[in-house]
Amino acid sequence: TSFGFRTVREGEKQGLVNDVFHKVATRYDIMNDLMSGGMHRLWKDAMVSVLAPPRQPGRGWRVLDVAGGTGDIATRIVERSDRQVEAVVLDINGSMLAVGQDRADKAGLAGSITFTQGNAEVLPFPDRTFDAYTIAFGIRNVPDIPKALREAHRVLRRGGRFLCLEFSEVEMPVLDKVYDAFSFHAIPAIGKAVTGDGDPYKYLVESIRKFPNQDRFAEMIREAGFEKVTFRNYTGGIAALHSGWKL
Ligand code: SAM
Repeated sequence: TSFGFRTVREGEKQGLVNDVFHKVATRYDIMNDLMSGGMHRLWKDAMVSVLAPPRQPGRGWRVLDVAGGTGDIATRIVERSDRQVEAVVLDINGSMLAVGQDRADKAGLAGSITFTQGNAEVLPFPDRTFDAYTIAFGIRNVPDIPKALREAHRVLRRGGRFLCLEFSEVEMPVLDKVYDAFSFHAIPAIGKAVTGDGDPYKYLVESIRKFPNQDRFAEMIREAGFEKVTFRNYTGGIAALHSGWKL
């Protein structure tokens, strides 16, 4: 590619992604703080505010958090609902899920959060199972994104909401240059310092650059069948939150 990274063949992608997250699972949370300067916490809080999970008891409201890793989003959703909702965390990587399960046990949230190993492209749930589908910093890693979006649509009930938080295209002059330099140099360096190997992070940075911009991704969400698709930028577009409804 133009960034001098080795080109990753499609079939290789999932394996590389899995290696990164197996290696980093126990240090994943600190890694996020280092690489985003703590900003990922604000973006995740904002995502959960937009979702506004119900607080009334007995609604039987269920959310599926795909590529949920160590449970950051699910934990926030359950806490924000005063533990009135049920969350399923699905991730392809058992190491990430194990860290999440441990965290949920310690926080006393294990009764509200279930951890399931699976692939975003073939969700192990019947049609119309969930009231909401969330995915944070995960869709970029999935080899067949349109397929994952169609699966999201399938498992949502009518009236259900899709929310996706992902790195996006920086739409502020100057910040875009700073961000480019930071991601190209600092992210692999931090990765190397914490895990001993910077190469997988070069791949992650490349995957951010290759990911469709806000408008193109909104179009892909519409193509999967969602309606009223909108997005909002966070921190000048470093991250964006896309929303859609199954109507
Ligand atoms: N959502 C969490 C967060 O925001 O902290 C974790 C995000 S982490 C950057 C990306 C996650 O996507 C990893 O845990 C990885 O295992 C998972 N993942 C990658 N490919 C996947 C796939 N095809 N299906 C499900 N999860 C996948």
